[in-house]
Amino acid sequence: MNLLSVKGLSVRYGPIIAVRHLDLDVDVGEIVCLVGPNGAGKSSSTLAIAGALLPSAGTIHLDGKDIARQPAERLAMAGVSLVPEGRRIFGRMTVQDNLIAACLPGRRPFDDPEIFSLFPILRERMGQFAGLLSGGEQQQLAIARAMLRKPRLMIVDEPSLGLSPRFVDIVFGALRQLRNQGVSLLVVEQSARRALGLADRIYLMRSGEVVMTGRSGSLAQDPEFEAAYFGKEAAR
Ligand code: ATP
Repeated sequence: MNLLSVKGLSVRYGPIIAVRHLDLDVDVGEIVCLVGPNGAGKSSSTLAIAGALLPSAGTIHLDGKDIARQPAERLAMAGVSLVPEGRRIFGRMTVQDNLIAACLPGRRPFDDPEIFSLFPILRERMGQFAGLLSGGEQQQLAIARAMLRKPRLMIVDEPSLGLSPRFVDIVFGALRQLRNQGVSLLVVEQSARRALGLADRIYLMRSGEVVMTGRSGSLAQDPEFEAAYFGKEAAR
């Protein structure tokens, strides 16, 4: 069943066209990855879908309702949560206060047991300043903050950026668990190998456009995908 449907989405920064006519769908309980090299338009696409950037063209529907050009707060109430690139947690606040600040009326309380069952380390760190956490712990906190809003669609921008393989496993494991609980995920990932290991489906972007899309299982076997991604960027 379709949850998110994006059609003809374009994003411009003045004269620069960052995203051109993006068509993208996310089904209920599916992990979809946007992959592609630096500057491909992945973040601009997800920021526009999450209401943090105004698209210059296109439609965005969640469960059949038009959500394009709505402010991020209203989208959060509608069930869309963004975990931005760079995590954007409050470093000078404690972990607990970061969680409290993310709560919305009628959604999860800041100390919801599901948060700590997914990320046990956060319970241990509740009184610490968030800025003192490791990058992997900060990423867990950022995802926990998004979980508090009980999203139907979680948009996660580069969750693996700068993390050690151990933390990538923890974070990706948590994203899979969320998917298994029925949350749909749209994840930006620069590494095609990691995306193939995480996603149910993949959209490969280059220069603002989708150049290839398909199920991870098929793309992993498809030499064209290798050529499109692993060709020039093989060293990644
Ligand atoms: P990365 O992996 O480096 O974050 P990306 O695939 O997420 O790349 P975007 O950040 O969406 O790509 O950038 C797409 C294009 O838009 C690039 O050419 C980039 O230089 C440009 N761009 C992004 N943000 C801005 C901005 N605030 N002002 C002007 N141009 C921008």
